[in-house]
Amino acid sequence: FMRPIDKITSVLESYPKGIAGFRRFTNLIDTEPDIADRSNAQVVSRLSGDIVFENVSFAYDTGRTVLEGIDLAIKAGETVAIVGPSGAGKTTLCALLPRFYDVSAGAISIDGIDIRDMTQTSLRSQIGIVQQDVFLFGGSLRENIAYGLLGASDEAIMDAARRARLDTVIARLPAGLDTMVGERGVKLSGGQKQRVAIARIFLKNPPILVLDEATSALDTATELAIQQSLAELSKGRTTLVIAHRLATIQHADRIVVVDETGIVEAGPHAELLARDGAYAHLHRAQFGGLAQPV
Ligand code: ATP
Repeated sequence: FMRPIDKITSVLESYPKGIAGFRRFTNLIDTEPDIADRSNAQVVSRLSGDIVFENVSFAYDTGRTVLEGIDLAIKAGETVAIVGPSGAGKTTLCALLPRFYDVSAGAISIDGIDIRDMTQTSLRSQIGIVQQDVFLFGGSLRENIAYGLLGASDEAIMDAARRARLDTVIARLPAGLDTMVGERGVKLSGGQKQRVAIARIFLKNPPILVLDEATSALDTATELAIQQSLAELSKGRTTLVIAHRLATIQHADRIVVVDETGIVEAGPHAELLARDGAYAHLHRAQFGGLAQPV
C-alpha cells in the first residue's frame, strides 16, 4: 500500500525545479508509468534547445493512439504554437518533452541527444513550464519563487520577480518576500500566481519553455499584462505554446495545426490564412470571419 506514496514522492523529487505537473497532475500521479533513467543516461546542462520529434507515436495505457507519426523540428529560440480541436493531443505532445510519458514509437531529441539518454532531472532542469493552474505550496513567497533552486540569492530572486513584474506586488505585501502564501498564507490572485510561475522560470533560466495557455479566469487587462511577460520570458528560449485561443499566437514563428490524424498544417499566421485550409477554418470559427488585427 506504500507504493502510491512512493510514487508521489518520487514525482515531486524528480521534478523539484519548476513544475508541479501538468494540468493533469493528479492524473499523472495515478497513471504515470515508471520511467527509469537508463544506466548510461547523461547529465545535460545548458542545451541550446533544438528539438526534433521524429515519427513520434504515443498511446496512453488505455490503448488508444493519441499521436501518430509526428514529425516536427523546432529550432533553438523558435516559438511554435500548437493549435487544434480539443482532444487532438496538444497537451500530450508537450507532456512527452519532459518525459511525463515516453513515446510509444519514434524519438524526441534535444540538441541531437535522445531525451531517453538524458537523466530525467537534468532534462527537466532545461525545461520551464507555465501551466494554467499555478501551484503554490505553503511557504514564503521567496521559497515559492525559488521552488527547489537551492542557494538562489535574494538578489537573483528579486531580479526574477522584477522581470515577472511581481516586484510591485511584493512591495505591497506585509513581509515582502517573507510573506507566507499558499493555503494558510496570503491569498494571491490568479494573475499574481501566474507571475510567481513566470518569476520561477526567469530564475531557473531554462533554454526551453512550454506554455499551456490559460483559457479563462483572468480579466482582460491582467491577461494582456501576463501575455507581455510571457512574450519576454520566451525571448531567446525555444517555446512551445499549447494554444486554446488563436488571438494570442499570431506572432508565433510557426503555428502547427493538429487534429486526430496528426499534423495537418504548419506555417506562420499570414501564410496559413492565405492557404485557406484548416487554420483559416479554425480562425473563421473563432472570429466569425472578422479579420483580426495582426
Ligand atoms: P484540449 O484542447 O481539450 O486541452 P488537447 O488537444 O490538449 O485537448 P490532450 O489533452 O492531449 O488533447 O488529449 C488527447 C487525448 O488523450 C484525448 O482523447 C484525451 O481524452 C486523452 N487523454 C489525455 N490524458 C490522458 C490520460 N492521462 N490517460 C488517458 N487518456 C488521456
